[in-house]
Amino acid sequence: MSDKVVKLGGRIAENVSARLGLPAFEPGWVWLVGAGPGDPGLLTLHAVNALNQADVIVYDALVDETMLGLASPRAKLEYSGKRGGKPSPKQRDISARLVELARQGKRVLRLKGGDPFVFGRGGEEALALVDAGIPFRVVPGVTAGIGGLGYAGIPVTHRDVNHAVTFITGHMAGGDLPEHLDWPSIAKGSPVIVLYMALSHLPRIAELLIANGRTAHEPVALVRNATLKDQEVLETTLATAAVDVERTGFKAPAIIVIGEVVRLREGLDWLGALEGRVLKRDPLETRATRDAV
Ligand code: SAH
Repeated sequence: MSDKVVKLGGRIAENVSARLGLPAFEPGWVWLVGAGPGDPGLLTLHAVNALNQADVIVYDALVDETMLGLASPRAKLEYSGKRGGKPSPKQRDISARLVELARQGKRVLRLKGGDPFVFGRGGEEALALVDAGIPFRVVPGVTAGIGGLGYAGIPVTHRDVNHAVTFITGHMAGGDLPEHLDWPSIAKGSPVIVLYMALSHLPRIAELLIANGRTAHEPVALVRNATLKDQEVLETTLATAAVDVERTGFKAPAIIVIGEVVRLREGLDWLGALEGRVLKRDPLETRATRDAV
């Protein structure tokens, strides 16, 4: 529960919901909603509609508190993440809490960072609701591995670079690197790799990729606090990533992207351009090749 939050809710949200025919939040329902990577402007209208009507909002560590300002003044806020070194509540307890609140007839908004179904345990929570016979709705959100990279000027796909992209979590349930993943196939088959929760395992992942045929100078970018005002980007390569992370003291939460699309940032860093960065017109240097053909 946060007392910093000023809850405004209100007329704007009501007008939007009425105009667009957005659904009414029925008592006893749980809405599993993605809040996006941080910038409140990336909330969906369904998320705003949910915030305005919810009785209880159970929210995660990655949800920026300014968004909770859109909640109705009567809404109760329940924090479900890790705080002040205390262990985070068990997933089972969170699911049980959602069921309990719904059974009390509350309109329960479960607000999660990014998209609830992308490395967010949304599937587990939704299945617990199914199990308990609780009606629910899912509202997708902008995921860090796409929208967060967009704020760094890095498209996850580009026609001249890749026709496939792989999303990987660096942390399994126990915190270990997913060694059992088929790294040779990933290295060979996926020109662009996006890593969630992988900062601590990045040295090993880079090693595995190089050992399986990726070039050591392949570009890598790490984006910390993507889409927020204090967003930071570290550009490096597979060979230098571990040293650069150590040297700069780069911290989580970070989304990591490996692949030639990172080079597009020189041309597409639109946030940098707002601060005077001169954007390169042909960062992949494809024009010269095309003209020569
Ligand atoms: N469901 C979320 C992901 C949750 S896993 C989503 O769809 O985005 C948590 C991981 O997501 C973090 O460790 C980090 O890798 C990434 N992440 C989420 N928000 C981020 C942000 N604003 N900046 C950088 N990384 C972020």
